[in-house]
Amino acid sequence: QLQQRIHGTTLEINLNSLTHNFNFYKKLLKPQTKVMVMVKAFAYGGGAPEIANHLQILGADYLAVAFTDEGVALRQQGIHLPIMVLNPAEESLSLCQEYQLEPVVFSLEFFQLVGDWSKHGGQAMKIHLDLDTGMHRLGFEKAHMEDLKELIQEYPQLSIASIYTHLAAADESHEKEYSISQLKDFEEMSAEISAFLPEKPLLHALNSAGIVAFPDYQFDMVRLGIGLYGVEVTGNYSSELQSISQLKTTISQIKDLPAGASVGYSRKGRLPVGGKIATLPIGYADGYDRRFSNGKGYVLIRGKKAPVIGNVCMDMVMIDVTAIDAEVGDEVLIYGAEIPLAPLAEAIGTIPYELLTHISTRVKRVYF
Ligand code: PLP
Repeated sequence: QLQQRIHGTTLEINLNSLTHNFNFYKKLLKPQTKVMVMVKAFAYGGGAPEIANHLQILGADYLAVAFTDEGVALRQQGIHLPIMVLNPAEESLSLCQEYQLEPVVFSLEFFQLVGDWSKHGGQAMKIHLDLDTGMHRLGFEKAHMEDLKELIQEYPQLSIASIYTHLAAADESHEKEYSISQLKDFEEMSAEISAFLPEKPLLHALNSAGIVAFPDYQFDMVRLGIGLYGVEVTGNYSSELQSISQLKTTISQIKDLPAGASVGYSRKGRLPVGGKIATLPIGYADGYDRRFSNGKGYVLIRGKKAPVIGNVCMDMVMIDVTAIDAEVGDEVLIYGAEIPLAPLAEAIGTIPYELLTHISTRVKRVYF
């Protein structure tokens, strides 16, 4: 509460809801299926160390980050779960070793480089292999299989902890056939590599949407992301997931404006018959997207929806509260259970992932 008075805006994270969502997914999994949780991008904006710490308590099996420094930060905060690094820079390998982070290797060149590095350092290293079955982002393709097997033999000090692929359209029901063909290719390619290895690696392919859509392809582990944070990605907004975060602010000032008044920069907001506006201490520098300008976004004040008026400013936004009995100091909900992210994101041509990860570090996270 003090924090809200200091800055005006806070992101409240409800760890009980995180537990609820974790258990929701656990129930969809076979008892032996492991869970890797994606805590990249500051745990989708929620705050990586706090969330990772809670996941350790809940019994997650693995964590994943995009970049090595994200993993280092988690280790420095006392996180001891195994951590996979999706896209490690070559220069970060010594940090991976120092902090026991496990890099993903996605090309023949990178395999060789990590292999040479590990050979010269004289240390064994755990790595993960990314197979490209149709995402066409990173990863080994079918054509690389023979060379990959040769490299695996050449560098026995690299121990392959897991092999995975990523679905390009797990959340699109009309792309089911494409996803299935990815999963079948993965099954084939990963079996070919596994047969070659002294120890069986963990196999994994499913993200949040995939867990729901393809229960037969859990393999050994799944990679849970957005669903854990309470965002429903399959278009079913009435799901059992609980939103874990609420972005809240308060009203700084209220103005009664006459007919014809304009509001904000470039005079883009207009009040042809006059009205009442409330100014909030949150703007695009806090991650409140400028595309919410002029009615594309709305907030909740005293339980009522109120639209953005005018252009979103860097540190502030104006809301049309003509129809609401609002007062200075009132609490305002920007995102949360009653303002679901998916439709809001859709209104400005983006996805909930972007809205969540854009909430800037200036906004204080409060956990309860
Ligand atoms: N696996 C990989 C490789 C990813 O890049 C991501 C997220 O972008 C995920 C899993 C988790 O996806 P989602 O957040 O849709 O569950």
